[in-house]
Amino acid sequence: MKLEPGTDALVLVDVQVDFCPGGALPVPEGDRVVPVLNRLLRLAGVLAVATRDWHPPDHCSFAGRGGPWPVHCVAGTPGAAFHPDLDLARIEHVITNKATARDEEAYSGFQGTDLAAFLRGRGTRRIFVGGLATDYCVKATALDGRKAGFQVYLLTDAIRAVDVHPGDGDRAIAEMRAAGVVPIKSADLEFPVSAAGPGPTVR
Ligand SMILES: [Zn+2]
Repeated sequence: MKLEPGTDALVLVDVQVDFCPGGALPVPEGDRVVPVLNRLLRLAGVLAVATRDWHPPDHCSFAGRGGPWPVHCVAGTPGAAFHPDLDLARIEHVITNKATARDEEAYSGFQGTDLAAFLRGRGTRRIFVGGLATDYCVKATALDGRKAGFQVYLLTDAIRAVDVHPGDGDRAIAEMRAAGVVPIKSADLEFPVSAAGPGPTVR
């Protein structure tokens, strides 16, 4: 499949320190998505946006408030930062912060953010989703992308699952497929000729 610079976008979900090995809520092999995404960021020549989990210190998803997760991705802390190897210079602009309200959980990058409006404003029709974690925020973002009217592709080599219950990641992929999300490997993407040069303009 050939990427179309005018209408395609990469959506990087929550590639943050706390979701990688050594972080507060590590996704097994979470850091393995970084080189795959960096390659796409450098070569794909399409719009790239990134979301991040960005919680207040007393967020409702934390165990201390009866939520399912340990404290993670507290706004402004080192754990909430993007993985240090992620090629941020290639990510155009959007840092979409989600789940920023104390009493509201948000797994989807589209929930309570300007992501859909931003993408539409740029003429985006297809989004290619990668990041962390397959069975939570990637799934929710991909499903909401469909609901927002985008064609959604799942970058299967650029995602990893939490797998709280074994098989959660595979079930998530099945659920996404059932909603019309198309799994694709990054190696199956063809880059536009114009991207073979030094890469997209850094902003
Ligand atoms: Zn969270």
